[in-house]
Amino acid sequence: MSIRIVFGNITGAILTLGWNLFNKFNPKQHILSLYLHNPQKNVFENTVLYLKKKGFRFISTDDLQKLLEQKKSLQGRTAIVTLDDAWRDNLQNVIPIAEKHQVPITIFTPIQPVEEGVMWLRWFRDKETLSKFPELANQNPKRLSTSRRNEYWTKMKEQKRFEREIMTINEVQSLAKLPFVTIGGHTYSHPILPNCTPEELESELVDAGQTMRTWTGTDIHVMAYPNGDFNNEVIAVSKRAGFDMAFTTEEGRYIDIRHADLMRLPRNCVPNAFGRQESRARALGVWQKVFKK
Ligand SMILES: [Zn+2]
Repeated sequence: MSIRIVFGNITGAILTLGWNLFNKFNPKQHILSLYLHNPQKNVFENTVLYLKKKGFRFISTDDLQKLLEQKKSLQGRTAIVTLDDAWRDNLQNVIPIAEKHQVPITIFTPIQPVEEGVMWLRWFRDKETLSKFPELANQNPKRLSTSRRNEYWTKMKEQKRFEREIMTINEVQSLAKLPFVTIGGHTYSHPILPNCTPEELESELVDAGQTMRTWTGTDIHVMAYPNGDFNNEVIAVSKRAGFDMAFTTEEGRYIDIRHADLMRLPRNCVPNAFGRQESRARALGVWQKVFKK
């Protein structure tokens, strides 16, 4: 076991104990909101089982929307579980567990990675690829304008191919039919939305929303901002694209049923492969409160 995992578990255990003793979670008014990407099976199952043991019941994003619109007080601890990017390993590591423990999940699914199999950052973080683009060496690729990103990305794709990591269209379509799965919007190409021009926002949000509705045959009205990045213009176009609820990556906060902004819903990240105690502390958001980014 690595030192990082051991540190995470000891610290996580202390923070979780602290949460259990002193938490300000008001079950009448707060909803715990979490998201994962490509979790190991045991990370997903341990986290879900821990929250169940602590009395949380899980609701879908559709139920969440109704609750937020009604603003009625809740009955008992409530939590929501979302996953970003439609990683293919979710099919083995998440779906069977969610079904077994009756956890409704929403999977925010970007169109282009489903079509092509890989997320754009795969190339921008690949050492071999980067060696051919020395000007990018000290650049954060998330700061590039979307058109610059696309120029590089096109060249990179000509140089190197990666194996599929994201679900296929057929897989997304089969998941959309499961009663406990909701497919949510996650743009066309997973750009950093504030780096987009108005035209790019239109295709990333409006057109991509329509494509996903056609793929799944369902009315998709919930989305997550890639990388959690948004601004007022992004919110305006997202609403026009038919999304009436959107998740950020703001951590360490509960969704407050009385004051929630439906286009700025917070979520705690549970990383793919940390230990059991750290995963619990992160799911509860107590880790992020102590270790602010
Ligand atoms: Zn994403």
